[in-house]
Amino acid sequence: MSTNEMATDRCPVCGKGKLHEELGEFRTDFISDDGKHRDVIVPQIKKLVCGQCGEYILDPESESRISAAQRHAMGLLGAEELMRLRNSLGKSQEGMAELLGLGKKTWCRWESDDYFQSEAFDRYLRLLVFVPSNVEALKLIDKEKRDGKTDLSRTFRYVPDARSTEVLARQFLPVLMDGPFN
Ligand SMILES: [Zn+2]
Repeated sequence: MSTNEMATDRCPVCGKGKLHEELGEFRTDFISDDGKHRDVIVPQIKKLVCGQCGEYILDPESESRISAAQRHAMGLLGAEELMRLRNSLGKSQEGMAELLGLGKKTWCRWESDDYFQSEAFDRYLRLLVFVPSNVEALKLIDKEKRDGKTDLSRTFRYVPDARSTEVLARQFLPVLMDGPFN
């Protein structure tokens, strides 16, 4: 349905008012690490606003733009950076979800801007970038879990010392740093 068609529609919330188009900046916020609310302002967002109850509808493109702006303001890796990380590991979206222990479609959504990772998961992903041997460790963890071996002392035996992977990390980083990853 196009925006013009929707403009003549009735409001789905109150069922009484008619929707009209408004173009303007969109404000949202998030709570940063220090516990404070931070504003995110996204310009040129199209809203369909109800003249009666004041509720509004956003189209999917606007929602994605708002989501991307919030993600950026929160200092999280962006959709394109996640795609580059996945490609560097030679994984499909589903393969990536499997490796990380995510639901099948979660990674796919993160690569669009519809949803994004938490701060905690963002740090987890950065560990894979900065210490590539963590990817190998993850594969082992995944295998051990599938085999029903969940005892931590077994897994730790396989995780190499991070310092021994410094050379690898130096080769790997430029690939990921080439672009908006900084
Ligand atoms: Zn309404």
